[in-house]
Order: sequence, then C-alpha cells, then structure tokens
Amino acid sequence: MSTAWSEARAQLDRAADTLRLPDGLHEMLREPRRSIEVSVPILRDRGDRETFIGWRVQHSRTLGPGKGGVRFHPEATFEETKALAMLMSWKCALVNIPYGGAKGAIRCDPTTFSDAERERLTRRYTSEILPVIGEARDILAPDINTGEREMAWVMDTLMTADARAAGTSVTGKPVIVGGSSARRMATSFGLVVCLLRAVEMLEFRAPIRVVIAGYGNVGRGVGQILSTDPSFQVVGISDVSGARYAPEGLDIGAINPVLNATGGLVSGLAGEPISPPELLEADCDVLIPAAVGGVINADNVDRIKAKLIVEGANGPTTSEADRVLAEKGVTLVPDILANAGGVISSHFEWVQGVQGLAWSWNEVEERLRHQLNEAFAEVREQAERNDMTLRDAAVAVGVKRVADAHLVRGLYP
Ligand code: NAD
Repeated sequence: MSTAWSEARAQLDRAADTLRLPDGLHEMLREPRRSIEVSVPILRDRGDRETFIGWRVQHSRTLGPGKGGVRFHPEATFEETKALAMLMSWKCALVNIPYGGAKGAIRCDPTTFSDAERERLTRRYTSEILPVIGEARDILAPDINTGEREMAWVMDTLMTADARAAGTSVTGKPVIVGGSSARRMATSFGLVVCLLRAVEMLEFRAPIRVVIAGYGNVGRGVGQILSTDPSFQVVGISDVSGARYAPEGLDIGAINPVLNATGGLVSGLAGEPISPPELLEADCDVLIPAAVGGVINADNVDRIKAKLIVEGANGPTTSEADRVLAEKGVTLVPDILANAGGVISSHFEWVQGVQGLAWSWNEVEERLRHQLNEAFAEVREQAERNDMTLRDAAVAVGVKRVADAHLVRGLYP
C-alpha cells in the first residue's frame, strides 16, 4: 500500500531519473538528515499524566536552516512527517528561499485538550526538541491544528534558552510579537497567482467555475479573492461537516462572514446538501483540494470532472491518481508550487524579524506575486521541455537546486 512516505520518495526517484543524479547523491536525498522522536508527557487538568509521541524531522539543511510546520493530529505518524519534511525541501528550493525542509508533529487528538493542556503540550514538545531547533538550525511554523497561539508559546519557551534568536526561530507568530499580518492570506493569495497563470496557459474562458474542497483558512481565503474577480464563479465548497454545490454560483460575500464566525460550518448553510466526497466529483472547471491528503485517489479519479486541479493542501492527490489525471489530460498545479505562498511569506516574516521592520501588505503582495510567477514560469518551461507533468517538473526544479548545492558544498569530512 502506498503511503505519504513512499509517494514522496517515488516523486524524488522520478526527479533523480530525469536529472540523472549520481546514485550516491540520490540515496542521500532519500533519507532525512536528522529525525528525532520525543515523548511529551503532560499533566492533564484532571490531575493525571498522559504521554504523547512527537517528531521533528529535518530532511535537508543544505540551502539553509530547516523550515516547516508542526501539526497536532490523531493520525500523525513518523513516516508522514518524513514525507512532509521532504516536500518542504523541494518547495523552499523551488521558490528560491534560503531554507531546507523540516516538519514536526505530535500524535494527539487536540479536540480533547483545554487551553491550558494545549499550552503545556506545546511547551513540553518545544523543550524536548530544543537542542535541534533555532534560527540557524530549524525554524518552526503552524500547520494543521496549530496557529499563532501555539507559535507564541513555542517562541516564549525558546526564549528560556536564547532570548535573542527566539523571534527569528518561529514564524506564524501573532503580529504583536513580530508576526506578519500578511501571513493569514499569503497561501490563498499565492494559490490564486498560480491559478491565474494556469487558466491563462489553458486559455479558459469566463465564467470559470471553481470548487473548493476544504473551506478552512486556505480555502476561505481563495474564495474571498475569487469572489472579487468576475471571471470566476465559486460553485462548490466543503468542510469536514458537509458540502454545498450551486451550478449558478455561491454567494461567497454572504457565506464567508457566517463561516468566519466561531463554529461556523458549511453544514449550517442554506442550500441543497451534498457530501464532501461527492463535491470532489461535481461538475466544474477547476478543483481546489484544500483540506487533507489523499482525497483524489484511485477510487474516485475516474469521476473527477475538473480540467484543472490546483492543490492547496499538501499531498491531496495520490501518485496513482496523478498518473490517471495526466492520461485524461487534466492539468494539475502541484502543492509545492500552489501552496508555497505560505512559506514565502514566512521567509518574509523572518527577514522582517531580522531587520526589525514591518512591510506593508502591498510590498508583500508584490514580492509574493513576483516569486510565484517566476517559479510557475520555470516549472512550465521544464514541463514543456521534457514533456512531463507540472508536478514532476516542479519536483525536478526543487531537487536540482538542493542537489547542486550539495555538490558545491562537498561532503563532510
Ligand atoms: P484548516 O484546518 O483551516 O482547514 C482545513 C479545512 O478542511 C477545514 O474546513 C476542515 O473542516 C476541512 N476538512 C477536513 N477534512 C475534510 C474532508 N475530508 N473533506 C472536506 N473538508 C475537510 O487548514 P488550512 O490552514 O486551511 O490548511 C489546509 C491544507 O493546506 C492543509 O493540508 C495544510 O497542510 C495546507 N497548507 C496550509 C497552509 C497555510 O498557510 N495554512 C500553507 C501550505 C499548505
């Protein structure tokens, strides 16, 4: 059975083949440079202790310190964390930011925690991985079920060890302690930049009908941006609670404020309900999976009607589905390009932290657009030159940069 890790390795293997990487270098890139497993004991509010397992994986630190989020999830595994760390290496390299790839996770059900328990878990995890993280080693960020609040706790815990570097060892912090106000919209904005390049490439005509499968932070931001562009019509949205589909278009201007309110769920909206898996197969021009991994797979790929898929989530399409989509002539803009706006803006947050300056949204927007347009053009050129999918092209561009840096730096000792 394929897993996130075997899928990530298969992507690397194809890139190594295209790039004719020397065997020894290919083998090095197949393994993370460093992985650490930690047990995270916390005091529960009811008075007893409970121990959770967590990981921090640094796949590559060749282009700079490791960079990657930390997720709290009941199904998190070491293998998945390794896969996500590897994808971060190619993503950072692809969009030309001076970071390696890393990822962290704690296997837990965060819905069972009080705020105080959540804080104890975050702080204890941070202290357990403290020896391997920090500004020059590995920079943490939010991911599934973690956010600004957790990053503030990570930063505060890090300050017990090194007050000077703590702010630049974490991104996705609250604005009051050096976070970037642009971070919240950056992934969605970057995805829309890639979407615009892709519809231009495919010569789609308005109205372009879009389904957003996973209407959380990323999905809702995409909906908000597209609702102001008359060329697009958002016809479907879903979250874990349910989905809504309206061929004539949904009123995103009215829906977003309802969902932005605490506890707002798609299942509570007016309209004919369909299930989240059915929405993936609904009639549309563009499908944006923006929830969890593996949702487009061998079981449903034949029924997908979109002609363009732009991946907001990490790893939403299995490699088997990738192959079928390519055969069907469906264009797919891969995760490491389409959702890279988040990590680019994290880099901007880091630069602003080092400089002690805050950039305006206009400045962030202009830089983001420029970096993503360049990466898109490079990936498209690589795909056309080698007659390969945009995913294989994007991974090849990222892998090549990391491999070139390895060769220039040489091997210690
Ligand atoms: P989020 O938790 O805010 O939103 C996820 C949404 O998906 C929620 O609305 C949830 O209800 C929904 N969902 C979960 N399972 C679903 C299912 N089976 N079907 C339909 N909907 C489902 O998370 P987010 O920050 O929006 O991140 C979404 C994805 O994008 C994740 O894979 C994340 O790794 C990736 N990503 C996020 C960022 C970022 O800046 N937030 C950056 C890069 C990648």
